[in-house]
Amino acid sequence: MVFKLKDTQTGLHELNPIKDNTLKIYTCGPTVYNYISIGNLRTYIASDVLKKCLLYVGYKIEDVMNITDVGHLVTDSDTGEDKLDKKARSEGKSAYEIADFYTKYFYSSIDKVNVRLPQVISKATDNIDKQIEIIQILDKKGLVYKTDTGVYFDVSKIKDYEKLLGQDIDKQKIASREDVKIDTTKKNQADFRLWQTEYPNHEMQWDSPWGRGFPGWHIECAAIVNKFLGNHIDIHTGGYDLIFPHHFNEKLISESAFDSKFVNFWVHSGLLLVEGEKMSKSLENIYTIEDIESKGFDPLSLRYLFLTSHYSTKLNFTFSSLQSAQNALFRIYNFIKLNKSLFDKDKKVSLEYKNKFEEKIKNNVDSPGMIDVLWQVIKDKNLDTSSKITTILDFDRVLSLDLHKYLLTEEVPEDISNMLLERKEYRDNKEWNEADNLRIKIEDRGYIVIDLKDNTFVIEK
Ligand code: AMP
Ligand code: ZN
Repeated sequence: MVFKLKDTQTGLHELNPIKDNTLKIYTCGPTVYNYISIGNLRTYIASDVLKKCLLYVGYKIEDVMNITDVGHLVTDSDTGEDKLDKKARSEGKSAYEIADFYTKYFYSSIDKVNVRLPQVISKATDNIDKQIEIIQILDKKGLVYKTDTGVYFDVSKIKDYEKLLGQDIDKQKIASREDVKIDTTKKNQADFRLWQTEYPNHEMQWDSPWGRGFPGWHIECAAIVNKFLGNHIDIHTGGYDLIFPHHFNEKLISESAFDSKFVNFWVHSGLLLVEGEKMSKSLENIYTIEDIESKGFDPLSLRYLFLTSHYSTKLNFTFSSLQSAQNALFRIYNFIKLNKSLFDKDKKVSLEYKNKFEEKIKNNVDSPGMIDVLWQVIKDKNLDTSSKITTILDFDRVLSLDLHKYLLTEEVPEDISNMLLERKEYRDNKEWNEADNLRIKIEDRGYIVIDLKDNTFVIEK
């Protein structure tokens, strides 16, 4: 199989797992000091679609995400306050309460747009030991120095640092940004903090060989990747804004500490603009999924909208494009609802279209192409309706637009849904006889049980 994927720096390449058939994937998680926005959701949906594409074509995955609950300063650099600490003080709460609240909000938001949770989710504050351990390794290699404000990574010790920075990274970003005051304690402006001792009043503090303090932002992901996935991983995802300094420095830390290539494919999703503008507090255009719902939209219309543009491009969100996306999605739902009596559970997926769909997947996760194939299926005059439904339900393993819901009988009696839940448990435990007996019971009540690869539901006979 040739699966082409784009690495941000080196372009399109064939994806070959480092080991066997399993891909190790890391996604930078949210900084949990605020409600996650539809911009963040674009990035998480992009990672979710990528992973589901990989599963669809037969890879296995091991996926990990962090939760940034300490260390991310308001400037994304080495000055200013910690985002969580600042929020906690402004709301009169503890930083842990803030993290807990916004982490829950994050989970409920991604659930609404059908983003599957990674197998491992780990908080920065739960991995302090690993972060200290890596700084010690770097220390032994002479790559760090200590000042009054913390421990810094010394970029002047890295051979060809300038070359590594490459053409893409705007060096101005290192030297000065309007909101970043110059940190006078470091030797080179590109040095960055691994451990911060500058904030004695910061609520989250730990002892370390360099004094009481808390970690920097980039060391956190380096540590969580290493702890759960090892020195060398297949894919690392995140939004375009993380390329520099976060990912650049994360790579520098990992490769220097472990003398190993860090990541085969960096996959960055393009930023979401709102009505042509960058999302910002002052423009009051930072929408959450709840804002979208309160304006009468189905959260999955947002997922559909994001699928219709390629993950790597910038996307301009407007409410009229969301309305068009919702209209299109509801047309698909209606197609299924209107034709559900024609559905035959023994029908096979159309191989011709499945191949086309896989071609789009393997061409750098071409989601607009996948949506296009879905519509080709619906519009095909020569394909029977039942095969159409079966085929698009199969595509929905990647698209996750809840198409199966529209095949369902509107209201399933409670005892039937309980039996389904019970049967799911039996199936999860591979107790096939018990599961079969329940299926027969459900069928005796006048329903047909449909088992898709990731889902089970019933329709009336
Ligand atoms: P943060 O919570 O700021 O660390 O961001 C969490 C994720 O959302 C990161 O991968 C960011 O790159 C991504 N992200 C933030 N803003 C946007 C945006 N406007 N469009 C797309 N992705 C974004
Ligand atoms: Zn990260």
